[in-house]
Amino acid sequence: MSEPAPTVAIVGGGQLARMMAEPAAALGLPLRLLAEAEGVSAAQVIPDHLVGDYRDLPTLQKVTDGCAVVTFDHEHVPTDHLHALEADGVACRPGPEALVHAQDKAVMRERLGALGVPCPRNRVVTSLQDVEAFGFPCVLKTTRGGYDGKGVWFVDSAEECADAFAAAEASGVGLLAEERVAFRRELAALVARSPSGQAAAYPIVASTQRDGICHEVVAPAPGLDDDLAGQAQRIALTIAGELGVTGILAVELFETEDGRVLVNELAMRPHNTGHWSQDGAVTSQFENHLRAVLDLPLGSPAPRERWTVMVNILGGEGHEGAGSAPLYQGYPHALARDPRLRVHLYGKGLRPGRKVGHVNAYGDDLDDCLERARHAAAWFRGDLGNESE
Ligand code: ADP
Repeated sequence: MSEPAPTVAIVGGGQLARMMAEPAAALGLPLRLLAEAEGVSAAQVIPDHLVGDYRDLPTLQKVTDGCAVVTFDHEHVPTDHLHALEADGVACRPGPEALVHAQDKAVMRERLGALGVPCPRNRVVTSLQDVEAFGFPCVLKTTRGGYDGKGVWFVDSAEECADAFAAAEASGVGLLAEERVAFRRELAALVARSPSGQAAAYPIVASTQRDGICHEVVAPAPGLDDDLAGQAQRIALTIAGELGVTGILAVELFETEDGRVLVNELAMRPHNTGHWSQDGAVTSQFENHLRAVLDLPLGSPAPRERWTVMVNILGGEGHEGAGSAPLYQGYPHALARDPRLRVHLYGKGLRPGRKVGHVNAYGDDLDDCLERARHAAAWFRGDLGNESE
């Protein structure tokens, strides 16, 4: 190879793009960013950035000009624009044919059903009669635009469906009804796949959600049956291969009370359930995402330690307008208490419910890792105040 390292364009200036910058620096890979505003998380660390709207094709063309590859911090770029970029000779990774399955839950359900991938029973509903025919209790989801539990309603009767229909109508999207799964816990399967078809599967992790937001991840999922773990990895590899995903694919799964795994949803970018890999795996999801989108050989996804626990740092009540200073104030205590703790902050100001960072704690003893990571996250959140220990 006599060419210099190609520039990778990233659309979206959130923490996922920011965390790609670390392995990009280590591998000497230039990045160019399209940020939604000056000063957002990734724009703080990627000097070659442009501020603009990802829904505007000329802006996308400007940011990808001279780039071999474009990848994403989020899944919202209109697929028509991606087709146009591909026609200009820019490789979209993942491409529009794959990405639509992460944008539209109805498209995703139909395709996974056709592939024989186990999913909750589901159907698109356009009226109350449709939901009644589907049966209560169920879960209603907008087909597009939902995140962190927004766009999801747990309904037990016809009267409770009004909000969901109103929200779908207001944003001009469809509604999907799903059986309400009785699950033991939520799992996630993460794989990296390159355009030439090489794939690497991370160990299956367990995630704890509160109000639809990921709070905690344990890698690997404690006590998970080997067969079920293998099935979950195969499901993710099948989806990545069949849909032609390039980069990271995260498959959110339910482990049902009767011992099956069902797919909840897909993300085609580094994912919160993979943040543990920054410190707990030989190659992080961010590095493997970059390697995959450039079609470089993938790194090992194997764990470095028996357990890694990731706990998100979320802004608490009373944090409105608090900026990021309270987080830095947490350093002296958190770092002194646990010299093995790994801290990742996103350069974001605190706001109630906003993800502003996460911590990783790894080691041989799961309870110890849980305690260390939870304590540190609570300290950063300010939940522990200044109480002495
Ligand atoms: P989002 O797009 O906001 O991430 P999800 O589809 O992941 O939405 O749903 C958010 C949360 O709601 C899930 O993490 C899970 O806890 C719960 N949930 C979603 N679908 C179902 C279902 N069919 N049965 C039971 N719980 C569900």
